[in-house]
Amino acid sequence: MSRPVILCVDDERIILSSLKSQLMNNLGDTYQIELAESGEEALEILEELTESRTEVPLVIADQIMGGMYGDELLARIKTLLPNTHGIMLTGQATAESVGEAVNKASLFRYISKPWDEEDLVLTIKTGLRSYYDQKELRRQACYQSIIHKVLQLVITNVSFEEQLSQALSAILSTGCFSVSAKGSIYTVDLEQADLEWSTKDPDLVMISQVNQGEAPESNVSDGEVGQDVTLITSSPSVRYYRAPITLQGKSVGILYIYIDETHDETPQVKAFLSSVCHTLAGMIRISQYNRALEKHSLNLEQLVEKRTHELHQALRKQEQLNDIFLDVNKKLNYFATTDELTKLMNRRCFFERADAEASRARRYGRKALLAILDVDFFKEVNDKFGHQVGDTVLEKVAHVIVETIREHDVIGRIGGEEFALLMPETDVDEGKEICERVRLAISSNTVVVGDHCISISVSMGLSEVKDEESTISGAMIRADQALYDSKHKGRNLISYN
Ligand code: GH3
Ligand code: MG
Ligand code: MG
Repeated sequence: MSRPVILCVDDERIILSSLKSQLMNNLGDTYQIELAESGEEALEILEELTESRTEVPLVIADQIMGGMYGDELLARIKTLLPNTHGIMLTGQATAESVGEAVNKASLFRYISKPWDEEDLVLTIKTGLRSYYDQKELRRQACYQSIIHKVLQLVITNVSFEEQLSQALSAILSTGCFSVSAKGSIYTVDLEQADLEWSTKDPDLVMISQVNQGEAPESNVSDGEVGQDVTLITSSPSVRYYRAPITLQGKSVGILYIYIDETHDETPQVKAFLSSVCHTLAGMIRISQYNRALEKHSLNLEQLVEKRTHELHQALRKQEQLNDIFLDVNKKLNYFATTDELTKLMNRRCFFERADAEASRARRYGRKALLAILDVDFFKEVNDKFGHQVGDTVLEKVAHVIVETIREHDVIGRIGGEEFALLMPETDVDEGKEICERVRLAISSNTVVVGDHCISISVSMGLSEVKDEESTISGAMIRADQALYDSKHKGRNLISYN
């Protein structure tokens, strides 16, 4: 890389050589001092220097020269090399031309001839410092804007691969690398990687490449290179930066930037690459979390779907079981309370209901009557027509009773051919009337079973549930006695006790 140039322009050779020797004496050989005898020659020299990418921090120009004047030259240099500082050195400059140069060419300083060497050197050194300070500021601003750009990519709605590709292009656009700089980024394969990386180095795959940056052999496992940004020269024509991308001390990727021989390694470039790698590590981590999250959500969705299905199945099964259970319960209750032959309440159920009615009647001071009915000479029916016909007769008798009594009367079969009837809210006369209706309904109709017409009658015993009685047991005993009386008196009768 050639040394930076300070260009001195004056049409008097003696001035040029005096300038050169003073500058060389005071600045050493850090700078190359170039001389031009006219503005035109100065521009030619600058063109060559630009082509060879040589830096020109300062131009010192005389104002009055044959051909192009100093102020015009400095104004043109400003458009060609906007960062180069211009110093005007003349004894004959008018205030107007100085003003022109200050405005158009952003003249850094004006020094009048003859100059004082100390003053000249001080001015030159101040100019150089200013030039390099500004250069450093521009570089920092550029690096910051690139890092900012890369950071912003993290929240853009593009794929991870696209994010890395755009980040790489941004890094290469700094201009601090060679014009033809190339790059590539290797990272852990996110499809393969677990969220928790293992302690050993992961396998890295190339995710992004800009300008077909070719990775040198054994790129990924450059174990000896360590964790810092390193400039590696593997052959005179192959130079590259290797910048490890690490997260919490673990390698998650590598950034390669390939440069040519014109690139100068500086601590600033390395620091920049190191910062960029931190941002890239964040990008990789976020993308990894996103993928893990997506995977997890998918699993969760599938699990929820499966569980919902299972739940529905279980609910359906439960509903079916409930139906069966209700049905069984209903049947159990039916069999527990119903007389199978006549479908009336069975003995146990009748006593429960009748006791409840008795207790209610007592509570409210109402009347209740109890009647026992017994089929007359039923044994003879069985004997004459058979047991089965007897059964049918019992069914029909039960049917007639139900048809004849009132809706709220309670009827049950309490024995073979014995029935009991509880009549709530009923006084003795009403009770006798109802019993009479029943007796008549049975005795006035013959029961037809097949070819047989069978005449049937019932005897009844009637008794009142007394005010102090909260069950029907007393009334049962009295009614039974009354029934006995009916039988004794000739049957087909109602007796009251
Ligand atoms: P009484 O007029 O004195 O009551 O005479 P009875 O023949 O009706 O009385 P008894 O007590 O002598 O006979 C009752 C008969 O009722 C005896 C029994 O076989 C019959 N019986 C009891 N339960 C059933 C039944 O469920 N079906 C049939 N077919 N007969 C029954
Ligand atoms: Mg009997
Ligand atoms: Mg009988």
